[in-house]
Amino acid sequence: MKNILEVKDLATYFFTDKGTVKAVDGVSYTMREGQTLGIVGESGCGKSINAMSILNLIERPGKIVSGSIKFNGEELVGVDPAKMRHYRGNEISMIFQEPMTSLNPVFRIRDQISESLMLHQNMKKEEAYEKSVELLKLVGIPRAEKVATDYPHQLSGGMRQRVMIAMALACDPKILIADEPTTALDVTIQAQILSLMNDLQRETNTAIMLITHDLGVVAQMAHHVLVMYSGKVVESAPVVELFKNPKHPYTQGLLASIPDLKEEKSRLNSIDGVVPNPFELPEGCYFAPRCKHAMDICLKKQPSTYDINSEHTASCFLYSKEGGDM
Ligand code: SF4
Ligand code: MG
Repeated sequence: MKNILEVKDLATYFFTDKGTVKAVDGVSYTMREGQTLGIVGESGCGKSINAMSILNLIERPGKIVSGSIKFNGEELVGVDPAKMRHYRGNEISMIFQEPMTSLNPVFRIRDQISESLMLHQNMKKEEAYEKSVELLKLVGIPRAEKVATDYPHQLSGGMRQRVMIAMALACDPKILIADEPTTALDVTIQAQILSLMNDLQRETNTAIMLITHDLGVVAQMAHHVLVMYSGKVVESAPVVELFKNPKHPYTQGLLASIPDLKEEKSRLNSIDGVVPNPFELPEGCYFAPRCKHAMDICLKKQPSTYDINSEHTASCFLYSKEGGDM
């Protein structure tokens, strides 16, 4: 499996009147063809800003301040905007949480799908219309010919999300970034959309970045998982390993907070405390104020990233080998 995206030490900061927000702060990972990378964490942890950074969609007062994003070996940080427009939609595409805000209410579905086909693949209108109907069929939309001529408001939420996926797949992207793609949908529709994404991935070998706060979705979809906290990746592991053998206290807390239906627990065992204010980050480990295992060193220094094994890392002093950092 080829690496399609290699991100190294990426940092994206926002320079505001109140101070600097290190939204993404030294993040590294790779994405492989045909695999899904799950990115989990609470809102504000940097999951979406990481995705926007890949697409070069960070606007002032935000800026990628350092690091590297290599797509198929080519550096995307600082790339010419025209070239980036080609990558965006054509090679790397994105689907969002709420399709109604990303679909244009005044255009028919087929016109919205056709737009990128005409722009990126130089199709003529008729050809693009035909391909649009094909794509709608591909994502399991019944009566695709009719739906192609509908306006977004005529479709249900689940159908709109299918349309978004059809649009995202229009140009056979190498990478599909899905930011909370099913959060707005009810559970049954959510399951259908996720299994659709799985099926399409098997057919097209697309690498998917799945951004979510829902560990159940991660368990169902991801091959590898990054857990983010306050702009940093605190744990990275293959999905089975992460669920069986979570190392970082934050990951352990997230897993413990999944409701266990069999035991009919009525209350979530959530992690005490709140995510730190990005303007007032603690000096040491950002998780220390909420961590049961916090030691003296944790209040003074930030942990490095330690290898648990060749595919599993955790940024926590509990795994510092020789206690070397301490
Ligand atoms: Fe807890 Fe210390 Fe590990 Fe941070 S470094 S998660 S405070 S044990
Ligand atoms: Mg988000």
